[in-house]
Amino acid sequence: MQLDYDYIICGGGISGLLLSTKLSQDPNQSKKSILLIDPVFPKNENDRTLCFWDNKNTIWDEIIKSKWDNVFFNSDNFNKTLDLGSLNYKMLSSSEFYNYSNSLIKNNNNIDVLNSNVLSYKDNKTHCNVKTSNNIFTCSKVFNSIMDWEEVKTNTKYPLLIQHFEGWVIKTENDSFDPKKATFMDFSIKQNQLTQFMYILPFSKTEALVEYTLFSKDLLESHKYETAIKKYLNSSNINKYKIISKESGKIPMTCFPFFKKNSENILNIGSAGGWSKPSTGYTFKNIDKHTTRIVDFLKKDVSFKKFMSKDRFWFYDLIFLDVLFYKNHLGKKLFTDMFRKNNSKTIFKFLDNKSNFIEEFKIMLSFPKSLFLTAVLNRLFKGI
Ligand SMILES: Cc1cc2nc3c(=O)[nH]c(=O)nc-3n(C[C@H](O)[C@H](O)[C@H](O)COP(=O)(O)OP(=O)(O)OC[C@H]3O[C@@H](n4cnc5c(N)ncnc54)[C@H](O)[C@@H]3O)c2cc1C
Repeated sequence: MQLDYDYIICGGGISGLLLSTKLSQDPNQSKKSILLIDPVFPKNENDRTLCFWDNKNTIWDEIIKSKWDNVFFNSDNFNKTLDLGSLNYKMLSSSEFYNYSNSLIKNNNNIDVLNSNVLSYKDNKTHCNVKTSNNIFTCSKVFNSIMDWEEVKTNTKYPLLIQHFEGWVIKTENDSFDPKKATFMDFSIKQNQLTQFMYILPFSKTEALVEYTLFSKDLLESHKYETAIKKYLNSSNINKYKIISKESGKIPMTCFPFFKKNSENILNIGSAGGWSKPSTGYTFKNIDKHTTRIVDFLKKDVSFKKFMSKDRFWFYDLIFLDVLFYKNHLGKKLFTDMFRKNNSKTIFKFLDNKSNFIEEFKIMLSFPKSLFLTAVLNRLFKGI
């Protein structure tokens, strides 16, 4: 059995798989030997619906399931169809993504896959070790996508909110949805002192994913997600439907500086690398962007410590999360204010970390000033 590789990728989920395929497609990296370790491979189930906004034509268009020109925001006394301009809101089923990556990996002789759990990994400067229950492997670089929730939860400096949700794909007897319009956030539901909304992806007039989503400190008891979806469907006069499939999950919302754990030769990737946007949980586009950056980065042979650092968007997210963590009941107001007072194209640019100072300043002015000023001062006092 081969025990030495150029690269070892710990965790073959979305980021591990995408990184493997990008390395195997790059002329400079395609000869490198890669070991991908995950207890479950190949994955093929539809365990997550991956949505993102992007230019109208991208490489993902070949395998995306649906896309929308507009998305809809709804709250009490305010609703708005958000014009995405040159972007589309796109949806990729994880099963399509897994099949796409699995076939590329299986056709590449330089990638080995091991169905096992990684127990530990270590950077010894000249090489790295990765330990599984049966073996100790050596390699020159490790990419880790195994998330340590405990570490993030127990740190006291950077609050952790969890984006948690349950979604049902339902088929209704009567026409119930507008397939041209996805609902980005529907805050019309009771907030119960939390930040919670419904998210709807319509595939036809009679089929949609309806997802109950919360940004809060703790998970709910499992029956509460179901109760909330049933109640929402009932209040929308959707009473006759069949559940086709269900998904649930949780995504970290935190400014915990995951990148500080990167060493010369170990890079944390995916949610474990802090690639989930702290204020929204969107991760897929960051995975796409950063895995491309890794392929370029490897050409320069620079320490992984330099791969990520804090920027002003990290700071904006930090302040926003500080507010939402301590005043979780204000989420509905903050998101409503943002969408009411700003141009939607600018908001999506801002959420993509691509806005300029003037645009960011305008967005900030739409939030309660004293609340945010206090949060900034508290944060400066606490340390960044
Ligand atoms: C249901 C759901 C829906 C989502 N929807 C969206 C969305 O619409 N848009 C968006 O941008 N983001 C979305 N996300 C967030 C994010 O894109 C996904 O969580 C994505 O899977 C993150 O990729 P990752 O590689 O970091 O983690 P994962 O895909 O979870 O991969 C981690 C891998 O590590 C493996 N692993 C764990 N422990 C070990 C171990 N000890 N040894 C070896 N392997 C191990 C796991 O089996 C897993 O395969 C969603 C997440 C969930 C859960």
